[in-house]
Amino acid sequence: MKMRIAVFCSLLAVLTAGLSVGQQKSPVTAIKAGRLIDPETGTAAANQVILVEGERITGVGPNLAIPSGATVIDLSQLTVLPGLVDAHTHMAITYKEQPENNYYYLTYITDSTPLRAIQAASNGMQLLNSGFTVVRDVGNNALYADAALRQAIEQGWLPGPTVIPSGPMIGSTGGQFWPTPEMYKYHNIMFPEYIDANSPDEIVRAVRENMLFGARTIKLCIDCKPWGYSVDDIKLAIREAAMGGCKVEGHVQTADGAQRAIDAGVYIIAHNSALTPEHHRQMAEKGIFLAGTDTPFTPYRGSEAAFKRTAANLRDAWEKKVLLTFSTDFDYWNERMKDPKTGEWLTRGELTINFLETWKAAGIPQADILRAMTINGYKAADIISQRGPIKPGFFADIIAVPGNPLSDIDALRNVQFVMKNGMVFKKDGVMTPEKFFHPGPVKTPNGRWSR
Ligand SMILES: [Zn+2]
Repeated sequence: MKMRIAVFCSLLAVLTAGLSVGQQKSPVTAIKAGRLIDPETGTAAANQVILVEGERITGVGPNLAIPSGATVIDLSQLTVLPGLVDAHTHMAITYKEQPENNYYYLTYITDSTPLRAIQAASNGMQLLNSGFTVVRDVGNNALYADAALRQAIEQGWLPGPTVIPSGPMIGSTGGQFWPTPEMYKYHNIMFPEYIDANSPDEIVRAVRENMLFGARTIKLCIDCKPWGYSVDDIKLAIREAAMGGCKVEGHVQTADGAQRAIDAGVYIIAHNSALTPEHHRQMAEKGIFLAGTDTPFTPYRGSEAAFKRTAANLRDAWEKKVLLTFSTDFDYWNERMKDPKTGEWLTRGELTINFLETWKAAGIPQADILRAMTINGYKAADIISQRGPIKPGFFADIIAVPGNPLSDIDALRNVQFVMKNGMVFKKDGVMTPEKFFHPGPVKTPNGRWSR
């Protein structure tokens, strides 16, 4: 009995100690915002205080008392807003003019999964430096480099955006490849760039496997081949994905494919180039998000004719009131990606923000561009209940810029401050990532299933 009491007492001591640790208050940070934008309403409030405790926002208002001992960050000369979202990109593949002549079959052969994962980590930091705190990374990630990066960032090994990984794109025979019989049949060249799924059973298996290996969204190639998915196939994938809490994005490159994706009710359609005004009308009616991947015409990419079409398509989607997101489909690199003024290489973040050119050419109002880059992005990433709004209870993913993006959207090119999960990543225009690096997991290692 004595023994039992002793055990009970020490157990109690451990529990109490645990409790007091749990009750310990996280450090408080108070951000003084000269101007605070609410992208939902497209309005700004002057001289606001944002209180952040640990990872989350605990208070926002004009006259909040700053608790004694709080760290004060003075952004009174800047405009503060939620972090930005690239709703469709590829951080773990970069095809190049040399050596692979922009042919990504060859990138897949020359760049290993570990190499691509490390590149994705670097791209993630460059994107965070430009204010992108959320990235939907949708396919062409080798063997789940995207899911690994998400997990590494969540565990606290390195800084990066919140990654919404899809794992390999699921498609019918061939995916986006046109392989030889020997490479297809004897060398399984499709995997891991694509998962072939050609029947209801295979679609269910592919969706489940992606979720098992860390996908937080499911990417379907609706029409990469003439034998693409039927409405029933897509609906099956949507149902199965929902079991694991995932929404489905449909890659669409034909008008027929677009109609099947709309009829089945996918959550997001990727690529605007094959969509007609009638598709836009139906998407708006059904509340389907568009990740248009609207490439600008630059010295390093595109043509003027393609750019005009892209801008006109984006304009039509906006006129029809489609739920627009900011998306790039970035997956390439070449020797011309330099700042013409300084001759310096452009970062992945600068290359991404440069997609603003298309939005400006489409004549979309600044407030609507900002909504696409924030609130709609958070909704499309399906994390709006946790991240995005600068309101109590939400994760503190906050950026600041000089000027006012509501009157000059190019202000977003000059991000001076970045906070991710309540930690400062960039201040006074300089990266300060020390607090993000840990040699072991400081969060639950079971990051796959956290939101
Ligand atoms: Zn893509």
